[in-house]
Amino acid sequence: MDDSSTQIAYDPERVPSQFVEKLTRDPSLRSGWRIVMQDITLQLQKMFKDRLKIDEPLLKHLNFRIGGPAKWFVEVSTIEELQHALKIAKDADVPTFVLGGGSNTLGADVGFDGLVVKLAMREFSINGTTVRAEAGVITAALARATANVGLSGFAWAVSLPGTIGGAVRGNAGCFGGEMRDSISKVEVLRDGKIIELSKEDLHFGYRESSIKNSNDIVLSVTLELEIGDALELKDQLVESLEKRKGSQPLYAGSAGCIFKNFEFTQDAQVDQLRQQIAIPESMMQNKRISAGWIIDQLGLKGTRIGDASISEEHGNFIINHGNATASDVKALIDLVKSDALTKFGIQLIEEVQYLK
Ligand SMILES: Cc1cc2nc3c(=O)[nH]c(=O)nc-3n(C[C@H](O)[C@H](O)[C@H](O)COP(=O)(O)OP(=O)(O)OC[C@H]3O[C@@H](n4cnc5c(N)ncnc54)[C@H](O)[C@@H]3O)c2cc1C
Repeated sequence: MDDSSTQIAYDPERVPSQFVEKLTRDPSLRSGWRIVMQDITLQLQKMFKDRLKIDEPLLKHLNFRIGGPAKWFVEVSTIEELQHALKIAKDADVPTFVLGGGSNTLGADVGFDGLVVKLAMREFSINGTTVRAEAGVITAALARATANVGLSGFAWAVSLPGTIGGAVRGNAGCFGGEMRDSISKVEVLRDGKIIELSKEDLHFGYRESSIKNSNDIVLSVTLELEIGDALELKDQLVESLEKRKGSQPLYAGSAGCIFKNFEFTQDAQVDQLRQQIAIPESMMQNKRISAGWIIDQLGLKGTRIGDASISEEHGNFIINHGNATASDVKALIDLVKSDALTKFGIQLIEEVQYLK
């Protein structure tokens, strides 16, 4: 062991939970495990120096402001750094979580016994109507940049929190726009290799993509936009920001919409709800019922558990009043899901992602 082992600022006795069972079964592994822990730390330290954070509070990196410590935390600014960090974790059988802007993620109170890699590759280029952005580019900044050079088709995203990589994965959208509208291709990291995917490969759906159901990591995205009218684009930017301010509680920690809106294919799926309340015609026509509206009809707005509550302004937002825990939020999520199912026969599905 070289001298740098003295820099390790964590307790090597604290064994990540996923290894506890293994070590209980075979105590002979215990001393070996300590070496593995130190080894991972040393390898990561070698590459990232003081950019490696140990027992880093996740709440610092998540818009919800909720989450215990990550055993290891690094911000990567190149693909090589990302590949290297993931390889170290993989070789040591340590779990990883890739973080973008942390705007759609709920951390666990116990933290994460693995490596969190925050993507900070933030280069983008605009050539004619083609825009290429690395995964860590802030979505809102990219939207503003495209509008500023007179390109239309992406201005709607100026009020969308988070990074473009996270937005691609969840096919984020608002105010009539969605990521899939302008994507032409995406580069992903799959099993350590860089692969290019076409729009068709991505199988986009409402807040869905093939990436969401895989371990692929978005590295970059290429958008194909159109020449637009500079004044109209300026108005669109202002409109998107104002709509957001007027409809959502932006003053508190949150993860945006907690649930996906309820999609149905046959009217019979909403019979139980229709027997109790008239569903707005627009929702029936779109075959999509707003989760915020459902939560409002359940009378749950304002419900508080611990330091978290369902927003009064927007039923699909849970807000952190300052000291909310993941358990407070989860209890509210469970309450909404159970009431929606028993009272209206509707199974709500989370849009928020759990960091665990
Ligand atoms: C106030 C507020 C308002 C919001 N309004 C909207 C809205 O109108 N419409 C909407 O769609 N969403 C909305 N959201 C949710 C959020 O902004 C989007 O989902 C956003 O695109 C998430 O990006 P992110 O980088 O913050 O993702 P993160 O929270 O960092 O990550 C979300 C998930 O994506 C994964 N991920 C992140 N980056 C990558 C990558 N490069 N490759 C693979 N996986 C990755 C993470 O592992 C995680 O599972 C809102 C959130 C907030 C806080």
